[in-house]
Amino acid sequence: MSSLTEIRRLPAKRRMRLTWSDGHCAEFDYDYVRGYCPCASCQGHGAFEIEFQPPASPVDLASIMPVGNYGVSFVWTDGHATGIYRFEFLREICPCEECVGKRT
Ligand SMILES: [Zn+2]
Ligand SMILES: [Zn+2]
Repeated sequence: MSSLTEIRRLPAKRRMRLTWSDGHCAEFDYDYVRGYCPCASCQGHGAFEIEFQPPASPVDLASIMPVGNYGVSFVWTDGHATGIYRFEFLREICPCEECVGKRT
């Protein structure tokens, strides 16, 4: 089980670079992460799998809040902040070539 060791904002690219404890590292678009918000109001009740819901308009990252030692919460510039992103979940949706290749 790997946890996140670093979240680095790359504001010019509207991306964040995530680094996990096993050394894996990848860049995530803000809109991508926002679209995968796992909260019930984004995903609907009874959703078994978290699906990508494209944001209505491009978002920026306002702030980052740690949640326990298992996850992180993001405050987006559209005012949304209720999603709790588990570290493993972020790894599951990792958009890098290596991870995408493993999932398909
Ligand atoms: Zn949400
Ligand atoms: Zn990856």
